[in-house]
Amino acid sequence: MLDVNQKICKKIITPNNDFSKTTIAIGGSFNSFIDSSITRSSEVLICPTGALQLSESRIDLNTCVECLLCCFTSPEKVVRFVEELGSFKKFNNYCIDNPTFVTYWVAILLSSTKNNAKVGIEVKVGGGSREKRIPLLSVIDDKATLWKVAKSPKNVERAALALNDISELVNQSGGNKPSKIVILIESSEKNKSHDMILKFFEAKTGEHNFKLITLEYLWNVVKNWISTNSIDWDTTLFNNSKRIFHK
Ligand code: SF4
Repeated sequence: MLDVNQKICKKIITPNNDFSKTTIAIGGSFNSFIDSSITRSSEVLICPTGALQLSESRIDLNTCVECLLCCFTSPEKVVRFVEELGSFKKFNNYCIDNPTFVTYWVAILLSSTKNNAKVGIEVKVGGGSREKRIPLLSVIDDKATLWKVAKSPKNVERAALALNDISELVNQSGGNKPSKIVILIESSEKNKSHDMILKFFEAKTGEHNFKLITLEYLWNVVKNWISTNSIDWDTTLFNNSKRIFHK
C-alpha cells in the first residue's frame, strides 16, 4: 500500500517540481541514440492509472496498481510504501492486461535509479526491409542491452529469437554485441506446469544466450530499493550465476 506525505507534498510540489511526468526517448535511430544525439522524446505520465493525484496530495488506493514508480520518482520520499498487501499480484494482474506498460515501467525504472543510464523505446536499427525496432534499449556504463517483454512462457523463445535478429543488425551497424533480456510476465496462476515451463526455458537461455527475468523478480528488486535506496543493476541483471532470475 502507498501513502502520500501530505504535509511535504503540499510544500514541495509546484508546476516546476511535478514528479508525475517524465521524459522518455522514443523512436530515433540506434546510431543517434548511441551518439547521444537523440532528438525525439516524449513526455509520459508516471502513474499508469491516474491514481496519483498530486493536486489533492493523495493516491487513490482503488486504482493504484502498486507499480512503485512514484515511490522513487517522488522527491523527499513524498510517496512511501508503507505496507505490503499482496501487492505484486495487483501489479502483475495490471501488466497481464497491459503488457506494453512493462516496457515503460522498465524504462522509467532504469532512468530514475541509475544516473548514467540511457534508455530508449522503439529505437530503429538496420535499414530498408531489414529495419527493426528495439522494444527497449538501455545503455548503462557503455553496456548496451536489448529488452523484450514476453506475455507468457510460451512467448519467451519467440521474444529471444526476435532479440537475436535485432542483435545481428546492431552488430552490422558497427555496434558491439548487446546483451539481451526477456522479461516474463508471470502467468496469473503459478502451478507445477508453470515451474516445468520455466525449467524448459532455462535450457533455452543458454542456447540463445539471453537472460530471462521474471517481472516478480524485478518488482522485488524495486521494493527492496525503497528500504536500501540503491540498486546494483549490474548484479541485478547480469552478475548472477542463475540463468533465470525469478523469485
Ligand atoms: S504506485 Fe504506480 S499506480 Fe500507484 S499511484 Fe504510484 S505510480 Fe500510480
